[in-house]
Amino acid sequence: MQQELRELYQQVILDHNKSPRNFRKIENPTVALEGYNPLCGDNITIYLELDDNKIIRDISFQGSGCAISKASASLMTSMLKGKSVDEAKFLFDKFHHLVTAKIDEEVDLDQLGKLAVFSGVREFPARVKCASLAWHTMINALEGKGEKVTTE
Ligand code: ZN
Repeated sequence: MQQELRELYQQVILDHNKSPRNFRKIENPTVALEGYNPLCGDNITIYLELDDNKIIRDISFQGSGCAISKASASLMTSMLKGKSVDEAKFLFDKFHHLVTAKIDEEVDLDQLGKLAVFSGVREFPARVKCASLAWHTMINALEGKGEKVTTE
């Protein structure tokens, strides 16, 4: 990856870590679920409010963790507000591919928007779980699996 691009991505991640978006609790959420990444100690709860048409009316998170896990939850919640459950699942697949693709594989960044800032993560296998914790927790919450998510 180009150095300038890498620095830009780094800045976006640090900004979202410092001022995370949607960092609050939703009272009376449709579903809330806690996710834990024991490798790093990231602990995040995702709150979702869905309307009758399966649109994500509101999404937020709380918890503590490293810069990558927090920035990822912040960007994810910003991106998913107003999206349908199907769109959220589609983006989960796109994001999952982005952070787990082989290093020399070209990943299609279309539709990923700002999530592209995590394209460097796949070079750091230990960080993949940090970046995907919020996403796995969100998907499990949407699919109604009530158990706490752990990345192990
Ligand atoms: Zn972490």
